[in-house]
Amino acid sequence: MENLNHPNYAFFQGRIVPMEEAKIDIRTSALQYGTAVFEGIRSYWNDIEKANYIFRLEDHYRRLFESAKIMMLKINYSIKDLCDYTIDLLKKENYSEDSYIRPFAYNGDLNIGPKLNKDSQDLFIYTIPLGEYLDLSRALKVCVSSWSRVPDNCIPPRAKISGSYVNAALQKTEALINGYDEAITLSFGTSFISEGSAMNLFMVKNETLFTPPVSNDILEGITRNTVIELSKEELDLPVIERQISRTELYTADELFFCGTGAQIAPIGNVDGRIISSNEIGKITKKIQDIYFLAVRNNIKKYSKWCTKVI
Ligand code: PMP
Repeated sequence: MENLNHPNYAFFQGRIVPMEEAKIDIRTSALQYGTAVFEGIRSYWNDIEKANYIFRLEDHYRRLFESAKIMMLKINYSIKDLCDYTIDLLKKENYSEDSYIRPFAYNGDLNIGPKLNKDSQDLFIYTIPLGEYLDLSRALKVCVSSWSRVPDNCIPPRAKISGSYVNAALQKTEALINGYDEAITLSFGTSFISEGSAMNLFMVKNETLFTPPVSNDILEGITRNTVIELSKEELDLPVIERQISRTELYTADELFFCGTGAQIAPIGNVDGRIISSNEIGKITKKIQDIYFLAVRNNIKKYSKWCTKVI
């Protein structure tokens, strides 16, 4: 449910301001043409410590800079500045629940014409309370989308570009209209899996994890990287990054999505084919359990990923 009391603040034009003051011109290039890059970061409430922990904060800002480089957007702050502003913002909101952080670096040029203008670039950050983005209490029913993932040489999925989320919106909306929870996309003109509408995909087959490689038009997910590390380190399971054909999904032992929003979301049905008895798979469950311990700073070894909001 929407929490109408939040957010109260945004980081906007170099300082933290009340949300009502964070307004942009209707002519803004980023609004007109999608010329912006962004991040989605989660902060988790640790109820024992009564503290918020931001998960992989620096890694998200590092990716924001990579997205910005691809898009020739200049960010006038350092990673350290952005981490500090984010912590300040969360301190002011004073959440005692899980929340989501949205940094957005954009082209604020007001002229007509889709191009990047080095002089008018800016960045804002806001946060919202956020529980589950996908229902994690059951295995999801998904379809392979009739919409392909936009290829690297059109709008690079490696960069988290606001305009490219038109592609995600088409996939997700089609899936919902047809009675599915989510969509899986293929790389353009191929029968190889790319990812979900806004999440990466893993397949489990014979006690091995498989996920599409970074050359398959995916966003190089931070959760994907977390899953790879946790699977190898904690479960001693091999992880293979290779192309996955559509029909391999139908005969998989287990399938799951992963992402900052999606977290670890089990899939129980693809295109009408039942996967792992339409329940969360054994390995998926283990990964999900470890993930939720790690993100709330409940595993010492992974404290390096958790930034306390103090
Ligand atoms: N792919 C896409 C297209 C996404 O939007 C996201 C969410 N950021 C992901 C994958 C997962 O990335 P991450 O784990 O870094 O959130």
